[in-house]
Amino acid sequence: MKVFESAGQIHAEINFLRSQGKKIGLVPTMGALHKGHIALIQRALMACDTVACSIFVNPLQFNNPDDYKKYPNTIAKDTQMLEEIDCHLLFHPNYEQVYGQSKPREYDLGHLNNVMEGQFRPGHFQGVANVVLRFFEILQPDVAFFGLKDYQQYMVIKRVTEQLMPSIRIVGVETIRDEKGLAMSSRNLRLTTDEYNSAIKVPELLKEAGEMLSHKPVEEIKAWFTTQLDNIEHLKNEYLEFADADTLELVINPANHKNIRTFTAFYAGEVRLIDNMPI
Ligand code: AMP
Repeated sequence: MKVFESAGQIHAEINFLRSQGKKIGLVPTMGALHKGHIALIQRALMACDTVACSIFVNPLQFNNPDDYKKYPNTIAKDTQMLEEIDCHLLFHPNYEQVYGQSKPREYDLGHLNNVMEGQFRPGHFQGVANVVLRFFEILQPDVAFFGLKDYQQYMVIKRVTEQLMPSIRIVGVETIRDEKGLAMSSRNLRLTTDEYNSAIKVPELLKEAGEMLSHKPVEEIKAWFTTQLDNIEHLKNEYLEFADADTLELVINPANHKNIRTFTAFYAGEVRLIDNMPI
């Protein structure tokens, strides 16, 4: 695997590979790699000739400075994991290499920026759109792969890419869970054993909430979900929502929607986690 810290150098390398007719796949990450990331890279390896993984903890997308400071950094182990699965290129830039002197841009994210993560993490998706489009400029992938664990992020990226860089195809990969059912996340590393043992109860409750939608009003299910989490030590619900999988319009009457997903953000101790699943 070739490792690059310079935007100019990886750009030149990819230009050369493209001139050889190679199809380029990109998997952007913030590191602390786990099986969820690896599934994305393996999917990319199956679909593309050359796969680049980027590792960059993007300060622009953290609305909480403490979350940014505490974000895990395991670059030596990450590099080894990428070597083991034969990833071709690793891009591990610093802030300067990604943004230089340029100012963050404001993108039109429409309704996607007003609900759920958009509402509870102001500025988060503007930060995501900035970094992803910057990586697209540097790496010029044919295809980029994103996890549906961050479903709303996937929708935001699809929207800005369709508007601004429509030649790039965006592929979503279903959530990878650990053996207890918890959606894999780099932030899981920060959970104590007790917090972890509480957090693993959430996916089952999320699934149950989805099943209730066929016969109970939304507000009643939300209240039920909050009470369930309140009754589990260390947990606190931030939101439960049902949203149209194609538009993220919040669901009031399920009969009006073809595909619905259930979404939550919750705290396990001080660690904020998100999860979602199709109904
Ligand atoms: P992150 O490093 O958390 O920014 O994630 C990098 C990419 O991996 C994003 O596209 C995430 O949606 C994806 N990802 C993170 N966790 C998982 C998971 N458990 N299953 C599938 N994809 C994931």
